[in-house]
Amino acid sequence: MIRNTFWIIRSWICAMAILLTNNCGTPSPGCPHCAEDLQLSSILPGDTPFNSLEMKWCALNGVPSVEDPSLVCEDNVEEVLLNRHLRAGTCNWTQCKILVGTIFGPTANYGLFDDPNLSIGAPGDLVVNNTSLTQEMEELANPCDNHWNMQPNGITAIAIREFINTDGTDSPINGIAFANSGTRPFLFIGDLEFFPSTGGALHSNTERVLAHELGHVLGLCHANGDEGVACNSGFLDFNTFDNLMSGAGSSVNSRTLEVEQCDIARTRYPHLFFPHDRTYTSIASILDEGGENYAPADKSIDLYKTLVFNHLPEKGHLEVLIGTNGLFNERKTDYWVLLDVDNKVSTGLNSHQIVSGSNQEGVDMVVKVEVSNNGNGSNNTLYKAGANEFEPHSLPPQLLKTVLETSEMYVSSPEECSSIPVFQEIGIKLSREALMRYSLFREVDFSFSNGLKVQTIAAGTAADGTEVVDKCPELPRIIFGQKP
Ligand SMILES: [Zn+2]
Repeated sequence: MIRNTFWIIRSWICAMAILLTNNCGTPSPGCPHCAEDLQLSSILPGDTPFNSLEMKWCALNGVPSVEDPSLVCEDNVEEVLLNRHLRAGTCNWTQCKILVGTIFGPTANYGLFDDPNLSIGAPGDLVVNNTSLTQEMEELANPCDNHWNMQPNGITAIAIREFINTDGTDSPINGIAFANSGTRPFLFIGDLEFFPSTGGALHSNTERVLAHELGHVLGLCHANGDEGVACNSGFLDFNTFDNLMSGAGSSVNSRTLEVEQCDIARTRYPHLFFPHDRTYTSIASILDEGGENYAPADKSIDLYKTLVFNHLPEKGHLEVLIGTNGLFNERKTDYWVLLDVDNKVSTGLNSHQIVSGSNQEGVDMVVKVEVSNNGNGSNNTLYKAGANEFEPHSLPPQLLKTVLETSEMYVSSPEECSSIPVFQEIGIKLSREALMRYSLFREVDFSFSNGLKVQTIAAGTAADGTEVVDKCPELPRIIFGQKP
């Protein structure tokens, strides 16, 4: 993150200039723009600070606006993507005092990839369905996640040409977002200006759909339209269709947000925003480094390659988020987090003493989360490295807390906006007190200045009885806490 400081300073200076010059100037006729009369002002109290949300774009070759930026009145692909999310912000999210993407600015090194599956559809098309993740989505998400590995804040957005079905026909889907996910803040968006679906004006407005998908990633579900039931806090009648997060029945003018929605969007995943409170929080994404030990026989064991850490040196807790690649099932799975809190092999034990197939020297503490019965049963145990073996401790909830989340995939199409559970997430909060009490006191440095070495291992049984194991990352990775 430190290496980005220059750009951060530079771009804060530029931020308002970009907003003013790129967004509020007079655009050429026919060019996408957020006219002044479309810009929505804040609905939050005047002293509420602006939060900045970065967009980590990846795009596929073959997307019309990527192949020829002049189609959308831009000079290059970076400006296509940058201005697209700036418009989504100023036309919609300024209501919640969320500035979408001004820090990276036009200097951002957006990821540009070839279509991972050229056997179906045109280059740039993405195979989707509205009931599960598809292989092509996974194949695209991995390189994009890797591309942005050094920049853990922000939302990952993938620009594709058009969503298609497995038989190559056009899908009515316009955008896809993952919600209830701290590890996969992802959205996918089509080049809608060029592939207008039956939704007409509403769904050919890329910025409007982008703004809606952003809402999902920030933790909002549909304000109405999910089986007629208002979601989140029930703050909207299901016959209200002018809200940005309206599902079924939304219109091209569906742009407003409620204060309650802003509150959720601003607080549900605070680590996505930048700058966050650096004194207390830092984030690291951990990816597998190739040669992935996929566990396709059971997706709930196939760990997604991102972990997020919130270090809280003053009080608070160390939080580890583990993403899976599928849903928990009736079989028991053990998720292990191996921690070498001082990054010294001379303290602690070898992890093979507690997890078979593992071989990490110097492990001081281990957290084991046993999940069974489709996620309805879970049990935590903390193990401390003793003189010769790992000693188990069942800790009270205030010292070790585990939350199981179901992450959903939202799809937006002219017919409906629907959601379906697609993967799980395990949040582990290990209190400062537990770290002190069950580790050797002298070796706990809450800024982890010597590095915190970590690895997560999932072990379980597939439906056919096969034992399945996945490691994330494949080799233990060292994380450095950020100095205040
Ligand atoms: Zn939606």
